[in-house]
Amino acid sequence: MGRIIAVANQKGGVGKTTTAINLSAALAVQGKKVLGIDMDPQGNMSSGLGVDKNDDGANIYDLILGESTVEECIRKDVLENLDVLPSDINLSAAEIELIDNDNKQFIIRDAISGIVDDYDFIIIDCPPALGMLTINALTTAHGVLVPIQCEYYALEGLSQLINTIELVKERLNSDLEIEGVVFTMYDARTNLSLQVVENVKDNLNQNVYKTIIPRNIRLAEAPSYGMPINLYDSKSTGAESYRLLADEVIHKGEDD
Ligand code: ADP
Ligand code: MG
Repeated sequence: MGRIIAVANQKGGVGKTTTAINLSAALAVQGKKVLGIDMDPQGNMSSGLGVDKNDDGANIYDLILGESTVEECIRKDVLENLDVLPSDINLSAAEIELIDNDNKQFIIRDAISGIVDDYDFIIIDCPPALGMLTINALTTAHGVLVPIQCEYYALEGLSQLINTIELVKERLNSDLEIEGVVFTMYDARTNLSLQVVENVKDNLNQNVYKTIIPRNIRLAEAPSYGMPINLYDSKSTGAESYRLLADEVIHKGEDD
């Protein structure tokens, strides 16, 4: 069965989308069959993987409204072994439109249940909020991967996120676990990055990935070419680090 991993942190700008894009692509390069699900109305995972957000195809918003089937919404073979369920700005209305829906916490879980087995990994990019879209990602997922930016306020909001994950596990999805924390935008030239990593490790009783994602300008450039880092600059430190992260994610799956 496909392992479903939600990339979540209600803080914006911590590297969720960058991680969702490049982890998905790195898993696909390893021969894993991958589905990327874009749950952020900004649609940056979609465009970063080369999907035109404004094409006429149905997307996750139509899926949530029940107006399209999941097969109609998925873009097949965006890259070798990689399919994408894209979003666009319309998704921002979904929270309101779901208010009266009794099943609103499980819309995505139920909508994709028939295709989960077609994939080895399903990677969900969450929006920067703990609203209904993120709850849907958490009820769908087996694991949560939490990117933490190496900056002064790294721990801020983290306990809130962990509480939310625990609550979802208790009440809505007993399978859910915290897959691990990944540090992002690590700057080896400053002491701050190192201090943040040590401080978070001391204060957080969670699995932390050995791979630390460095600050690498190539990672920031790649999305404007609609390419993951392994295509844009496979020799960059960013590409290498996401290859290593993918290895860790694959091997964790094998241990279970
Ligand atoms: P989020 O999805 O959590 O809001 P993003 O992945 O969009 O965060 O990252 C925020 C910004 O930081 C983007 O402009 C992105 O290109 C840039 N960025 C993310 N990770 C890195 C990195 N490791 N090195 C350099 N820039 C990065
Ligand atoms: Mg994002």
